[in-house]
Amino acid sequence: MIDFEIPADVAELRDRVRKFVDTEIVPYEKDSRVTAHGPTDELRRELIAKAKAAGLLSVQQRPEGMSHLEQAVIFEAAGWSTLGPVAMNCAAPDEGNMFLLSKVADADQAAEYLDPVVAGTTRSVFAMTEPDGAGSDPSQLSTTAVRDGGTFVINGRKWLITGAVGADTWIIMADVPGEGATLFLCHGDTPGIVIERVMNTMDRNYVEGHCVVRFEDLTLPESSVLGSVGQAFRYAQLRLAPARLTHCMRWLGAASRAQSIAIEHAKTRTSFGKPIGRHQGVGFLLAENEIALQQCRLMIWWACWHLDKGAKARHESSMVKAMVSEELFKVADRCVQVLGGIGISDETPVAAIFTDMRAFRLYDGPTEVHKYAISRQLLRDAAE
Ligand SMILES: Cc1cc2nc3c(=O)[nH]c(=O)nc-3n(C[C@H](O)[C@H](O)[C@H](O)COP(=O)(O)OP(=O)(O)OC[C@H]3O[C@@H](n4cnc5c(N)ncnc54)[C@H](O)[C@@H]3O)c2cc1C
Repeated sequence: MIDFEIPADVAELRDRVRKFVDTEIVPYEKDSRVTAHGPTDELRRELIAKAKAAGLLSVQQRPEGMSHLEQAVIFEAAGWSTLGPVAMNCAAPDEGNMFLLSKVADADQAAEYLDPVVAGTTRSVFAMTEPDGAGSDPSQLSTTAVRDGGTFVINGRKWLITGAVGADTWIIMADVPGEGATLFLCHGDTPGIVIERVMNTMDRNYVEGHCVVRFEDLTLPESSVLGSVGQAFRYAQLRLAPARLTHCMRWLGAASRAQSIAIEHAKTRTSFGKPIGRHQGVGFLLAENEIALQQCRLMIWWACWHLDKGAKARHESSMVKAMVSEELFKVADRCVQVLGGIGISDETPVAAIFTDMRAFRLYDGPTEVHKYAISRQLLRDAAE
């Protein structure tokens, strides 16, 4: 009934990805262009060129397509280094934005806004979250897009907008009064987009960090509407279920890397007359990690299986995101513990994986919000 066999072609691609990330991308982890605001665009372009040369750029967008289950295997391998998905152009927010645009954009919009992102020549932005409005509850959206003749005039303020500096494809969520939340497409240099500042955050794996952005009379034509007016939440949902799973896949790869470093350390570092891994206290930490990693992998595959059957998998992807983000964070924490003092240093990538993983528990729905959605569904089902 259930087959866990990974098809030979997928296994072959996974092995190529893993080798590419290990040999060509891991050495960049100590590059000075990995800044407190994430990798710079310059570094990203260099990494993209490497993936392109290796035939591994934007593999999820290849013409023959890629199932969610296949993505689970490939993105986990890419996530071995947090720079792997950047190189392969399957990192957030571009990967989710490409998915959304390939489903909703019309042919002209796709040529103008999607194709350059797939080619890796530019980056994209998804601007929804607001300081006093949309967040866990997108219905609090306060940015407005007011019709004015044949145009929309957008005003509002957003924050935590990943990669805003230097990105050319912008997807903006704004409320059209009386018609509802709508997605708009425009270029990053359109007058009216003001980047106030790059925020100082504890994570450092997203290209160019996260920004506070203001829209001041940003005036866009009717043709800039992505899909239909008033349908933003429906499209955002379309993006969110797969996007939350791809986050899980990439972080599973990073957590597995942390575990491999912890195992190596446990074999070689000694205390009280033996390798620390031979102390039951440390052995149990590693065993708990291994159990959690496999549990996360299987949960991800299960939700992908639902998506591949054509289901929306909202409930399933919520369960997976809540469980995986919490469990992988615990894995990273236990790896820090096994490493002792160097666990909190930049001597290994484990500290960075740990702090980046903390942010993962918040975006694409904080754990509590997923649990809230799951419990609401349970109560609805019970009432029927
Ligand atoms: C690294 C990172 C990158 C991001 N990138 C982007 C981006 O590119 N574009 C973008 O638009 N946004 C982005 N975000 C924002 C992200 O989507 C929001 O942080 C998220 O939706 C939560 O919204 P909020 O931060 O406003 O938290 P709030 O909505 O203010 O929630 C705060 C806390 O309240 C609790 N809470 C809220 N609702 C409930 C509930 N129903 N039940 C129980 N508890 C609840 C939760 O504990 C939650 O953590 C990013 C965030 C991070 C951390």
